[in-house]
This record gives sequence, structure tokens and C-alpha cells, in this order.
Amino acid sequence: MQYSKLLLPTLKEDPAEAEVVSHKLMFRAGCIRKLSMGIYTWMPAGLRSLQKVERIIREEMNRAGAQEVLMPAVQPAELWQESGRWDYYGKELLRFQDRHGRDCCMGPTHEEVITDLVKREVHSYRQMPINLYQIQTKFRDEIRPRFGVMRSREFIMKDAYSFDVDDSAAGEAYKMMHEAYNKVFERCGLKFVAVEADSGAIGGSFSHEFMVLASSGEDEVAACDCGYGANVEKAEVRYAGGEADSSSVPPLELVDTPQQRTIEEVTTFMKVSPEEVAKTLVFETDKGLVVICVRADHDANPAKVKNLLGANYAELATDEDVMKVTGAPVGFAGPMGIKDAPVYLDNALKGLPSFVSGANKADAHYKNMVPGRDFTPTGWADLRTIRQGDPCPRCEGTVTVARGIEVGHIFKLGTKYSEAMKATYLDADGKEKPIVMGCYGIGVGRTLAAAIEQNHDGNGICWPVPLAPWEVTILPLKVKDEETMRVARDIETKLEAAGIEVLLDDRDERPGVKFKDADLLGVPLRITLGARGLAEGIAEVKERTSGEESSVSLDDIVTYATDWVVERRK
Ligand code: ATP
Ligand code: MG
Repeated sequence: MQYSKLLLPTLKEDPAEAEVVSHKLMFRAGCIRKLSMGIYTWMPAGLRSLQKVERIIREEMNRAGAQEVLMPAVQPAELWQESGRWDYYGKELLRFQDRHGRDCCMGPTHEEVITDLVKREVHSYRQMPINLYQIQTKFRDEIRPRFGVMRSREFIMKDAYSFDVDDSAAGEAYKMMHEAYNKVFERCGLKFVAVEADSGAIGGSFSHEFMVLASSGEDEVAACDCGYGANVEKAEVRYAGGEADSSSVPPLELVDTPQQRTIEEVTTFMKVSPEEVAKTLVFETDKGLVVICVRADHDANPAKVKNLLGANYAELATDEDVMKVTGAPVGFAGPMGIKDAPVYLDNALKGLPSFVSGANKADAHYKNMVPGRDFTPTGWADLRTIRQGDPCPRCEGTVTVARGIEVGHIFKLGTKYSEAMKATYLDADGKEKPIVMGCYGIGVGRTLAAAIEQNHDGNGICWPVPLAPWEVTILPLKVKDEETMRVARDIETKLEAAGIEVLLDDRDERPGVKFKDADLLGVPLRITLGARGLAEGIAEVKERTSGEESSVSLDDIVTYATDWVVERRK
């Protein structure tokens, strides 16, 4: 391919709003352009790489026995009402009405559409197992779109859905997809881990996320040498502290704390450490409001709150709701005297003989509070987020916490959707049963961005060969020199005939510009043709990632480059 004919605009400057390196480099290397907030166009170079990820995914999905379909982006509200998600999916779901006034949405995911399809087409145990996937555009009206295509509003996802007769067959399907995902991310050249995860808005009972380890990741994963790994949203905290002795704690004492709202203000004012304070948070869930207490140096975990109540969502309540439940303005909430909501305490509070907490009235806190003596909590639970150095839930070791980018997520759905939407089949005995489902997603664009997060240097992208838009770039330094161009075109033609993807930089630019752009674009192998080398019958070869340079004779260059690329394809 000739650079001069391509829409391949490279830029020296980072876009102002780009926070992470993949966003900066994808923009500067002409891979993507922004249309509006969280909405991007894939440019020729970016699309070539995107399609490589898609090809790898397709091959592994097909190999695992999944069949490709393509479902619509626009979905009728009725299906979402059937599944029960219309009411709680929230603002991420882009809803609108068509000209007939019918409620619709842009699909953020396709459980409803596929369950409806399968319910109409699959009626017998003989038609299963079946696994259907698509690579298709999703829309999620993300509250904070950022990092370019990593967290965009419109994005391409591979989503697969499995349908089985029972739990054990569904477990096999899950295992197959887990293995296929391992292969996809290995073939993309990524360093990743599969960790236990919360099921979020998709629901179901069991799930794993595939995390690309990178410091820019929005997720945190807790891992232990024993092999345990989980998203911190999900990771269980094993409470190993025992119960403190509260028998000699003095009586509860009300303390005036005018204007002391934050943990820092309260601890300074009362001369206590955050470890001795219980912070009280009110969550709004679809099962009502709930009051949670955790040690003030710990973080309350919304996913654990949600799961404790069996709710579909849990998020911090509004100031008005806090006032309603506690009778106090934000900053003075406490667990004592709550009437209209359950009160759960995190296990770590067991380790304190007593604690300081808000008094549920403005400008006051309690000290010497002892649960069981001063008030009766609804229950105790694991409600906080794990952190570095906490005990591993599976062994006697401790966990470390690292950042990761979630590129894939697989779920055991069970019969959540099939029961709600009445997708049933007849078993061998003619008995009607709900189909057992699983669903499996990969963020295609996000995978590509994650690959850049892991493979770049100060000069640009260092594409792993399987994802590179071109595998080899040829840099004739003097395009006005006929002999140079004849050799360059000859190498291009022969490499292309050998099935290698080549970018020939035939632009009449200074060598410095060409070198800079080649580094920015990240083509894995660069062949430079300069006047002096040509006179001696050699080309200069440079590997983008390692920076290794060598001189290769023009007679051997085609074989050399072909072998180099083919060895590194996966
Ligand atoms: P996140 O927690 O990052 O929002 P999610 O749990 O909502 O992700 P899933 O519903 O599991 O994501 O979607 C499957 C995959 O789609 C994710 O693993 C991710 O790779 C990709 N994905 C999800 N949201 C986005 C987005 N806004 N932009 C790009 N890719 C996304
Ligand atoms: Mg999301």
C-alpha cells in the first residue's frame, strides 16, 4: 500500500482531552477521529487493526463451535419489559420513541433479543447445545466516557450467548468460552489474567473478567500467589480478627461536633484515628434504602451491598434520602435509631471494642458506641472493598492489588432471562424446562486500546505483529531517485505476493519525518532504503519493539522479512 494515497494523518500533538497513552497514540497515529463525546470514527489504519482483532475472535469463536449471527442495534422496549430490565437499567440505556410513539432503545447488550430469538426457534433438547455470537455496535450512554475507544458510548462488542439443557451442560459451554477467550487474548499478544467478577447489570450467578494488566486500567484486581484472582468489586474479604471485648467500654457519650463532617474533620476534632470510627453510608437499591457501616479507613463496596440484598443495583443515596432515613444532614449519619431501613455492619467493626459514629443529628457524634449494647444491627456482613495486604480468601497468604483493563467478561446466567421471557424447551421425557444460558462479551476496540497500553514507547505504538495495521513498512529515503523507487516497489510486490501486509512510505518527505511517522504508527518491521546502502546492495532493517537493527542484503530481504513476520504471527 502506498502511504501517499492513504488517509493516514499523523499528528505531533496529543489531543487536549486524552488522558491515557492509547488514546493519545491512536489519535496521533491516525487510527481514530472523534465525532462527538464518546463517539469515534475508525480511520483506515485503525480499522485494519480492529479487523485483525475481529478475525482472531471469529476464528476462536468458530473453533469453539459458536455460530455467527448479526442482530439489530435498535431494540423494542417490550423485550426489556419482559426481562424486567427496562425499569432499572438506568441512564446508560439510550431510550427513544419511534414515529408511532413506541418505546425503543439502542442495544447496550443483547440478552433480550437473543433470548426472544431462541425462544421462537429452539423447542427441543435435540436443538441444544447452541451458541450464537455476533460482532456488532453497542450503545451505552456512559456517565463518563473517556480514554477514547476504551470507554466510549458507541463501541464494537463481540457478544456470544449459549443455550443448554441443564447446569452441567451450561458449565461445559462456559468452560469452552473461557478457553476460547484465553486463546483470543494470547493471540492478540496481551499479558492478561482471568479473575472472578461481579455480574453487574447483566446479572446471573457467576462470572469471570479478562483483565489486561496496565497501570492506566480503571479496574483493580486482587491476586494471590495461590492462584486466586478477583476484581476488587467482587473479592471476598476474609475477616481474621476475632471479636473484641467490649465489657469495659464506658457508656455511650454524645459529643458536640459543630461543622465536623468529613472523616478527617471528625478524627482531628475528636482525637481518634480513622480505624476507630464507623462511617455510615446510605445506599439506594431496587429493594429500598439500606444503611451500611464500615470502618472509616475502609471503602464500602456497592457490589457487595447489592448482592447482600439480592438487589439489581445499589448506589449512594441522595442527600435527601440520607436525611429521610437518618434524620440528619450528610456527615452526621450513624447506625443508631434508624427506623425505616435495615442497618448492616461490616465484619471489620467486630474488631473494635467500641467506635465513634455520627449521632443522626446535626453537629453531633457518639463515642463509645457498642453494637448489640447500644443498638441492634440487622446483620453483619462483608461489605468493604479488599485492599493490598488483606488476607487471601483462599489461603493463608495475603493479596496484592494491581490495575487492569477489562477486555472480556463471561457470565453464567442460569435461567434468569429464560424464566423471565419464557424460553423453554421439551426434554427427552416431554417435560417443559427453562433453557440454561451463558453470555460472553469482548470489547473489540477496548482490546486494541489495551494492546497499545501494553505495547508502546516514547516514540509511538509498538504493535504486536498479529494486531499491526501493516506488518512491514518500506522507507525509500529519496523518492525522486528512480532506482530507489524501483527497488522499493520490487520488495513491496514480492512481499505482498508472499502474503505480507506492506506500507510503502512513498511520500516525498524528509527522512526524519518518515522515521518519526514509522515509529508512531508502530509497524513491527521497518526496511530503510538509503542511497549508500543501495550502492552496496543492502537494506537497513529495524525491529520496532526491540529496536534491534541489522543490514540485510537486497537479495535476501524478501525472505528475511517474510520469515520474520510469519514467525511472529499467531
Ligand atoms: P465496564 O465495567 O468497563 O463498564 P461492563 O462490565 O459494563 O464494563 P460488559 O457488559 O461485560 O462490560 O461488556 C463486555 C465487554 O464490552 C467489556 O468487557 C468491555 O471490554 C467492553 N465494553 C463495555 N463497555 C464499554 C465501553 N463503554 N466502551 C468500550 N468497550 C466497552
Ligand atoms: Mg459498563
